[in-house]
Amino acid sequence: MIPFLDLNEVNAPYLDAIEEASLRVIRSGWYILGNELKAFERSFASYCGVAHCVGVANGLDAISLILMAYEFPGESEIIIPANTYIASVLPVAYLGFKPIFVEPDPVTMLLDPDKIAEKVTSKTRAIIAVDLYGRICEMEPIMALARMHGLKVITDAAQAHGAIYQNKKAGSMADATAFSFYPTKNLGALGDAGAVTTEDEALAEKIRYLRNYGSQVRYKNDYQGVNSRLDEIQAAVLNVKLPFLDAENARRREIAARYLSEINVTDLILPPADRIQDDAWHLFVVRHADRSKFIAYLDANGIQTNVHYPLPIHKQQAFSEYNDLILPITERIHNEVISLPLNAVLTNEEVTYIIQTVNQFDYQQ
Ligand SMILES: *Cc1c(COP(=O)(O)O)cnc(C)c1O
Repeated sequence: MIPFLDLNEVNAPYLDAIEEASLRVIRSGWYILGNELKAFERSFASYCGVAHCVGVANGLDAISLILMAYEFPGESEIIIPANTYIASVLPVAYLGFKPIFVEPDPVTMLLDPDKIAEKVTSKTRAIIAVDLYGRICEMEPIMALARMHGLKVITDAAQAHGAIYQNKKAGSMADATAFSFYPTKNLGALGDAGAVTTEDEALAEKIRYLRNYGSQVRYKNDYQGVNSRLDEIQAAVLNVKLPFLDAENARRREIAARYLSEINVTDLILPPADRIQDDAWHLFVVRHADRSKFIAYLDANGIQTNVHYPLPIHKQQAFSEYNDLILPITERIHNEVISLPLNAVLTNEEVTYIIQTVNQFDYQQ
């Protein structure tokens, strides 16, 4: 079986260095908000080409802390793509704001800039752009529109570490960007971790307070903050792995290029091929009207796939007040998407086998 993603293999090349770095932290006696985190924040900001990086506990908190820091009034409306992972939307809801779902572009499956303007009201305060699957949203029109209406732009780049748009890296274009270093992401820790990047010094500073009970001086609390810190062991792991992110992304791009040029199956829609060398290819998401048949066929031939995601947020029980919304493009995407294995540890032989097997699907019907 070719697994969808084998984290053991993903981390194998780094294990010696990770063991050494973790041991250094364990023996240092300093486990929270120390030098490993400081070093990672500096390196990741520099990697993204942005002034500030603040490490936090996970990607969900990164989004949540950005929203908290902006102190939007209650009932504010936040524009968000309907096709995303639920973590992009949860903080909007639990902080008391109203998510305004926008249908995605049917080809890129990302936030459609042409559909934002009609959603802006006097209560709109921000747009959350999600770089889903590793492709950066159309930031130029999104930023222009936001500036025109005085809105903040927050990017959820949890799937887009190292992705590029107009020569700029993910994390450097919006007012603030949220990253996750969940183990399966392009840059993954060995546990939970996340970060916020921004050019805005005041915002970065405020998030440094908020992640630590609203305090930067022990027992002096300036805000009602939370506990959302990126611990020293995870920071040490990320310090080991960050220098290899570009090489891993290059391998992902190589595999994506092969899939795009060699896969040729009737009725199978491939992702857009216009930015092969810029996308981070966190996931390679194809679409087929008879998804379950395609998945069963690949499974029977030893290829494990995944679905990102099977049920849209507005149809989830957790968002029952939105269940009556009808968003045909989003619903169709959720019914048709299949993620093929794509990660930096797939061998050329495995890639060839996946392509050949996929291409024989036509003859199996
Ligand atoms: C993984 C992910 C998150 C959440 O990250 P966690 O670290 O698991 O909290 C948010 N948004 C997107 C798009 C993600 O893929």
